[in-house]
Amino acid sequence: MRHLRRGTRVLAALLCALMLVAAVPAPAVAVTQADIDALKKDASGLAQQKKELKNKISALSDDISDNMKKKELLDGQISVLSSEIANVEEQIRTYTDLITQTEAELLDAQQREEAQYELFCRRVRDMEERGNVSYWSVLFKANSFTDLLSRLDIVNEIMDADQKVIDDLQALQVEIEEKKTALEDQKTQSEAAKTELVAKKTELNVQRERANKLVQELRASQSEAQGDLDDLSAEEEAIQAEIVRLSKKLAEEQAAQGKPSNAALGGYIWPVSSRRITSTFGGRASPGGIGSTNHKGVDIGGVGYTSQIYAAKAGTVIVSQYSSSYGNYVVVSHGSGNTTLYAHMSSRKVSVGQYVNQGDVLGITGSTGNSTGPHLHFEITENGTRINPLKYLTGYVLAG
Ligand SMILES: [Zn+2]
Repeated sequence: MRHLRRGTRVLAALLCALMLVAAVPAPAVAVTQADIDALKKDASGLAQQKKELKNKISALSDDISDNMKKKELLDGQISVLSSEIANVEEQIRTYTDLITQTEAELLDAQQREEAQYELFCRRVRDMEERGNVSYWSVLFKANSFTDLLSRLDIVNEIMDADQKVIDDLQALQVEIEEKKTALEDQKTQSEAAKTELVAKKTELNVQRERANKLVQELRASQSEAQGDLDDLSAEEEAIQAEIVRLSKKLAEEQAAQGKPSNAALGGYIWPVSSRRITSTFGGRASPGGIGSTNHKGVDIGGVGYTSQIYAAKAGTVIVSQYSSSYGNYVVVSHGSGNTTLYAHMSSRKVSVGQYVNQGDVLGITGSTGNSTGPHLHFEITENGTRINPLKYLTGYVLAG
C-alpha cells in the first residue's frame, strides 16, 4: 500500500513537472503556426515539381542525344550519297563525250558511204555514156561465151571493188550504230541512277533539317525547364531564408522575455545511432547529368523505418510539418540564425513552439517526401548559412 501510495505521489509529481514543461509559454505570439503554415504551403509541391522538371530535363537530354546521333548518321549518309552522285555525274559526262565522238564517227562513215555510192553510180553512168549502153547491154553485147565471161569479169571487178567498200562502210556503220545504242543505254541508266540518288539526297536533306529543328526545339524546352527549375530552387532558398528569419525573430522574442540566449555554435550530437553517410554535403550531379543539385545537408543511412531521431542540440521547434520535398520534417532553432533540420521522417513527435533538450526524440526515421529509401536528411544552419554537418559529426563512415 505504502509503496503504492508513494508510487502514486511520484507519478503525480512527474505529471506536475510535465505540466509545467507544457505550460512554458510557447514563444509563438508573433512566430505562429500560421507563419509556418504559410511556409508549408509554399514548400508543398515544390520538390515534386522540381523532381518532375529534373526528369523532364533528363528525358530531353536523352532525346537530344538520340537525335544528335541520328543527325550524325544522316550527315554520314548524305556525304556518301554526294560522293555517289558526283561519281555518277562523271560517268554521265564520259558517256556524253563518247556518244558525241561516236556520232561524229557515224556521220563520217555515212558520208564516206554516200560518197562511195556516188562514185559507183558515176562509174556506171560513165560506162553507159562511153559505150552508149547500159550495164546489162555490155553483157548482152558479148559475141561469145568467153567474151561474155570477160565482160562479166570486168563488170564484176568494178562492182566488187565498189561493193566491198560499200559493204565495209555499211558494216562499220552498223558497228557504230550498235556502239552508240549501247552508250545511250548506259547514259540513260546513269541518268536514272542520278535521278534516284538526287531524290534520296533531297529526302536526307529534309530529314537533316527536321533533325536540326528538333534539336533546336528540344534545347529550347530544356532551357525553359532548367529556368523553371532555377525558379523553384530560388523559392526553396526563400523558404530557407524564412526559416532563418523565424529563428532570429524567436531569439529576439526570447531575449525580450529575459530568457538566456543560446547562440554558441557547435556542440551537436549525432541525430541517429547510425554513423553511415550515404550522401555528403555539397554539389552532386543530378541523375540526368544536366545541371547539379546542391545538397544542403548529409544523408544518414542504415536507419530503416524505426530508428529514433534525436535533437542534435537543445532548442525550440520552429517547424514541424510535411512537405513534398522533405516529407515529415522538423526544424529546431538553437539561437538567432542557428537551426538544425531533420527530414523524411515516417512520423514526427514534436510540435512548433516546443522546447527540446539535446537527445530528445523528434521523430522516427522513414522515407517520406522526395526520398527513394529510408534515411535521415540532416542539415545544420549557422548564422543563416547551411554548413557541412560533418564538421561536427565525427566518427562517420562514408558509404556508397
Ligand atoms: Zn539529403
